[in-house]
Amino acid sequence: MLFNFDNSYSTLPDAFFARTEPIPVREPVLIRLNDPLAVELGIDLAQLHSSEGLAILAGNEAAAGGQPLAMAYSGHQFGGFSPQLGDGRAILLGEVICPDGARYDMQLKGSGPTPFSRRGDGRSALGPVLREYIVSEAFAALGVPTTRSLAAVATGEQVRRERLMPGGILTRVAASHIRVGTFEWFAARQDQVNVKLLADYVIERLYPDVQQEENPYLALLQQVIQRQAKLIAHWMQFGFIHGVMNTDNMNVSGETIDFGPCAFMDAYDPMKTFSSIDHQGRYAFMNQAPIGRWNLCRFAETLLPLLHADTKQAVDQAERALDAFAAIHQTEWQRRLTAKIGIEAGDKCDMQMAENLLAAMSESGADFTLVFRYLSDALESGDDHQVIALFDQPGAITQWLGQWRKRLRDCDHGQAIGLMRRTNPIFIPRNHRIEEVIVAGNAGDFTPFHRLTELLQQPFTAQPEFAEYESAPLPEEVVQATFCGT
Ligand code: AMP
Ligand code: MG
Ligand code: MG
Repeated sequence: MLFNFDNSYSTLPDAFFARTEPIPVREPVLIRLNDPLAVELGIDLAQLHSSEGLAILAGNEAAAGGQPLAMAYSGHQFGGFSPQLGDGRAILLGEVICPDGARYDMQLKGSGPTPFSRRGDGRSALGPVLREYIVSEAFAALGVPTTRSLAAVATGEQVRRERLMPGGILTRVAASHIRVGTFEWFAARQDQVNVKLLADYVIERLYPDVQQEENPYLALLQQVIQRQAKLIAHWMQFGFIHGVMNTDNMNVSGETIDFGPCAFMDAYDPMKTFSSIDHQGRYAFMNQAPIGRWNLCRFAETLLPLLHADTKQAVDQAERALDAFAAIHQTEWQRRLTAKIGIEAGDKCDMQMAENLLAAMSESGADFTLVFRYLSDALESGDDHQVIALFDQPGAITQWLGQWRKRLRDCDHGQAIGLMRRTNPIFIPRNHRIEEVIVAGNAGDFTPFHRLTELLQQPFTAQPEFAEYESAPLPEEVVQATFCGT
């Protein structure tokens, strides 16, 4: 057996999912396997690398012990409610039990239509598969909670998008794939019995500690709020824009999920969006926290009947829990942002200083990653010119650097530099590099994909042989929008 399966989700009532088999593809070719992740999951590497392994990852052969299914969910998309979503191009093969006892979902993405596909083909183009593999694994290396990528496979078939494109399948691994939208599925159908079953399932699987609490459902809500508030601050540390923070793309486990038109910013712009369909800037960089809270309001609404028999008291409890979101997020963002300028446990004044730097960066469109990385070099060498050169005008940044040096005068510079170098990566998956990978991949050349994936395994470490990957895009290389990850 390739995977040590124990499938708990499939023991839930039929209303939670539709049993569905992957549809075989013509000519699967393995692009990449994530061996370190496979080892963590207790998967036998020889078997994974065999032709049988490939057949399973392509959906051409059933995974022994699996109970493939498509999960049901709804979701608020760009603010509007869609009652009927669900896994339209993904199939949960089963849950793997790791050697350490941890449980992970194993999912194929792009493995063919399901009862939730609506008008979609259930397939994925190769480009989004490569993008998700790169970004999710980069996130893991950066320490951000995220779903993982175990494998990328080319199907040998074409999919029709704006034009015909090569198809791909991603094997995704997650603590679970239960979304805010999964709760909304049952709440929208006034199915209180199954909302409670789902909540109990989530508590047992993901938040077992809350069983001890006086009101476990309120504690569950508080825990999910806390994880999301912190997760969004963690994204922001790296200039990450999720792109499609619909409630069906918010995982209650607190893992980042569904890397569609996501991107890491080059030039800093707090109102930056990437999704080609986000015309209102709903999911812009600095809107991510308020949108996260908005999504959690939708989550809280599904739990109201579980919180208290009296609706008014339930609403009071939910509101108090949601009120904590802003403070949790702000505290975490302050800690992470001030660490980026070398200050451990920064206070309000330090935060103001860091925000002044962001303001100067935004004014100049300075590169988010390089500014912070070069700051640590400047502190070490005493030479500011590299930082200043990232700005159009030297005035504001020169003044800021003076204030910053004054603030750090009595601090241990070695410690500040160390903190900054652990906090500010050299390498991020820059958009123009991902585009380069996709163009090559579509032409059958995966060398750039492997190179980018590998160098991003050590994002905080200088790798002189990959120095060109540090650079911001040239004006003609800038990618303005990424398209929905289909
Ligand atoms: P997304 O916003 O990309 O995460 O997807 C939103 C919804 O559309 C989910 O229910 C997906 O399963 C569904 N979907 C996206 N692409 C396809 C596709 N090619 N075929 C079927 N369903 C899809
Ligand atoms: Mg069913
Ligand atoms: Mg999605």
